[in-house]
Amino acid sequence: MFAIVDINNFYASCERIFDPKLRNKPVVILSNNDGCIIARSNEAKKLGIKMGQIFFEKENRFKEQGVAVLSSNYPLYADMSDRMVQVPREIVDNITVYSVDEVFIDLNNCSKNLNKTAFKVKNKLLKYLGLQVSVGIAPIKTLAKVTNFYAKRYPKFKNILVLDDDKKIQDSLKLIDIGEI
Ligand SMILES: [Mg+2]
Repeated sequence: MFAIVDINNFYASCERIFDPKLRNKPVVILSNNDGCIIARSNEAKKLGIKMGQIFFEKENRFKEQGVAVLSSNYPLYADMSDRMVQVPREIVDNITVYSVDEVFIDLNNCSKNLNKTAFKVKNKLLKYLGLQVSVGIAPIKTLAKVTNFYAKRYPKFKNILVLDDDKKIQDSLKLIDIGEI
């Protein structure tokens, strides 16, 4: 089994750690030279703000909506990414860094209780770094990504989901657009 640990709204979450005024507000992060939207908090997503949206076209609208608009701060995100990778390393041996805010964990040598391992990683990331993560666990890495999609979007899973039987896997694949993966 493999887990993917994925930080929720990574860039916006990093900014919030150092500026608590941004909490519970719609936050968007802009690309280099403040051209377009490259990251959004959940609140911004709920307002229908899209990835890739050209900023100047919406600048006035964002002011009306009280959206916090930030230039990107890549040294900060890179630093938080390095710290994030260290946390699962304290708990499990075999991890692979997959992107700036995602790591895969090979759970094949871990204890049987996969949920418990996932909770440990999730809770430590919150406690040490203040970052909320979603964890998807499945027999292969691609399915772990599918599982993470559900773990992140459906509050009933509390950000952790294990897909470990064929029926659940088939059902999860029926409901997802492959472009999401
Ligand atoms: Mg993420």
